[in-house]
Order: sequence, then structure tokens, then C-alpha cells
Amino acid sequence: MADESVVKVEPVSGPTPAQQVAAHSAAQGHKYLMHFPAHPARKDDPHYVDFNAYHRKYSKTATCFIGDRVGVDHCSDGPLELHHAHVEFSLQNGVDLKALEHDYPGISDPEAVGKWIESEANFRWLCAYHHRGAAGAHTAAHADWEASQYIQGLIDPKP
Ligand SMILES: [Zn+2]
Ligand SMILES: [Zn+2]
Repeated sequence: MADESVVKVEPVSGPTPAQQVAAHSAAQGHKYLMHFPAHPARKDDPHYVDFNAYHRKYSKTATCFIGDRVGVDHCSDGPLELHHAHVEFSLQNGVDLKALEHDYPGISDPEAVGKWIESEANFRWLCAYHHRGAAGAHTAAHADWEASQYIQGLIDPKP
């Protein structure tokens, strides 16, 4: 009688060349509806001064977050832009405090959220191309933008 506790394992081999998917390009697009909560005008935000102060203090020495990793060959010339990495200013009134506390403990009132939004924890310097261009944080899908930190020329402006 065979010992049923012994599991027969088939040898594992890698994909043969015929099984690999050839390099290819594929146009990407996405369209969806965003629900922006009511928010004050940017100029009326009491924490806008924090954004401006941070911008003034570091803009001369800042480098592009993507360029720091994959190289600056694709970075655009011109001044760097200060991106809200996690929550945009216009969304602050919609922030679920419990959800935010999950990653940023200690932020437990709306006033603290406004201050946090305009703080280094939520800022990221990007060149215009990696901010608003085809490979931008506001343009490319999150998964693609994340991967573009580590893959040269992953996103091309030509669809
Ligand atoms: Zn860049
Ligand atoms: Zn941005």
C-alpha cells in the first residue's frame, strides 16, 4: 500500500522562450467620476502659508522624486512642483480620520488634517513631466506610476 502522506512533487521548470510574452506597448486610459467635498478656495486656506513657506525654503535644492530613482533623462526642465503625495488640499473635508490615523497616528481633528496636508509628510517634489505630464502622478495609473520609479522609459507620452 502506498504511503499517502508522501506528496509527489513534479519538477518545476521556467518558461520556455515560446511561453514568454514578447515586449509590447499598450495604450492605457481611465475615466471615472471624482466626488470632491466642499472646500475653501485655496487662497483662503489657513495652511496655504505652510505650503508656500515649504516651497520657498526647499524649491532651490529640491530634486524630482522619480528622477532621483530612475534618472533625470525624462525629467522636464523648469521649476520643480510640490505635489500632495497622499491627499490633495481640495479633498481635506472628506478625509476619514480613522482611515488617516491608520497610517498617521495622532491626527484626530479636522484642523490637524489641514495642517498635515500642507506638511512634509504629504509633500513630494516632482518635475512637471512626472507631476502632470504623460508620466505624471496625476495622469498615469497608480500602479504604472509606482513602477515608473524603477523602470527606465516605462511610460511614453505617445499613445
Ligand atoms: Zn521628473
Ligand atoms: Zn500634484
